[in-house]
Amino acid sequence: MGVRSEELYRRACRVLPGGVNSPVRAFGSVGGTPFFVERGEGCRIYDVDGNSYIDYVCSWGPLILGHAHPEVISFVSEVAKKGTSFGIPCELEVLLAEAVVEAVPSVEMVRFVNSGTEATMSAIRLARGYTGRDKVVKFEGCYHGHVDYLLVKAGSGVLTFGIPGTPGVPEEFAQHTLLVKFNDIASVEALFEKYSDQIACVIVEPVMGNAGVIPPEKGFLEGLREITSNYGALLIFDEVITGFRVSYGGAQERFCVMPDITCLGKILGGGFPVGAYGGRKEVMEKVAPTGPVYQAGTLSGNPVAMAAGLKTLEILKRDNPYGELEEKASYLAREAKKLFASKGIPVTINSVASMSCIFFTEGPVRTYDDALKSDTGLYAKFFWAMLKNGVYFAPSQFEAAFVSVAHSTSDIDFTLEAMEKALKEI
Ligand code: PMP
Repeated sequence: MGVRSEELYRRACRVLPGGVNSPVRAFGSVGGTPFFVERGEGCRIYDVDGNSYIDYVCSWGPLILGHAHPEVISFVSEVAKKGTSFGIPCELEVLLAEAVVEAVPSVEMVRFVNSGTEATMSAIRLARGYTGRDKVVKFEGCYHGHVDYLLVKAGSGVLTFGIPGTPGVPEEFAQHTLLVKFNDIASVEALFEKYSDQIACVIVEPVMGNAGVIPPEKGFLEGLREITSNYGALLIFDEVITGFRVSYGGAQERFCVMPDITCLGKILGGGFPVGAYGGRKEVMEKVAPTGPVYQAGTLSGNPVAMAAGLKTLEILKRDNPYGELEEKASYLAREAKKLFASKGIPVTINSVASMSCIFFTEGPVRTYDDALKSDTGLYAKFFWAMLKNGVYFAPSQFEAAFVSVAHSTSDIDFTLEAMEKALKEI
């Protein structure tokens, strides 16, 4: 790393655990130390040592329009000048809620929170309150934020670190969490036969995005819909990554399967801390103050954050970039596949719309266990070689690469040239 990044990292480690505020940022799974970013513009980020990189992390998904989109920044600045937080209703909350209801097919009402974690935690509380049941079904390798009882075989940082759960969570807290395998509908059916009237909900990332990228197989999401309906349990889609990403209406629109509750985050906040959960009116009205399920937030519906989300959604709706995004991502995947093949390095590239992942394994990768077969050591070498050549992929094998509106075809060609050089080096 550059001199200034190293110096900042040393200082950071004195005052922040591991020098960071979220574990994956410490680069632990690729070795070495992180760079410190100075600014971002479009698809590029610039570090404090003057290096620039094409960014495929995009703040872990929110920046579908790229960094510092002029229209978003201008609107946010205008709103911020009028005050940054009130804790009283403001018009922007209504406008963003209306935009979400219009965009996401199964959502009639929505409650804003401040992160994806809050969204999933609150959605599950609601599902439990609504059904009067306790058990929650989750999938191995799916990550739903750092909710105590969901940190059981979760993906993302937890997966990279190989921690089956985490210290600090009493066993009793996880006793109502039931684990099943993604893309294995029979395992879900078996669980429901055993615990039929105790299961409040199934929570799933409709496209797995925290164990690399793993698409749902035909019939899987439909199967979840059918089983949950048959047993009177709720189906929760965690669309924190897929919402406004795999199509404007999210995975539910792309795959035509409607959940009871949808969790949103990332793109919804346009780079600000926003999450949300929403669903049918009859379910959402169980939330306080209309209903008995308590959930609150000092900064929820914050005007500046709402403004960033609102402008982001407005642009997505106006420009409808989804076809173009998918074309660019599949061009990258297709050409990368050829490069790896020519070097005799076995990889599997999974992609859904503008999210993709290069797994360093022969494949296919259709389950969490398949993802775990990846050669993470080789991924680490690839990561550093790409960084050296000016391209920033996620500092972990088990994350998605995101193409944004700001990535041009020539940026992707630059990436492919960097890849060609990188593959010679690893
Ligand atoms: N759900 C999914 C699918 C996620 O990918 C994430 C974060 N990567 C979360 C929930 C948690 O969101 P946050 O980090 O904003 O709490």
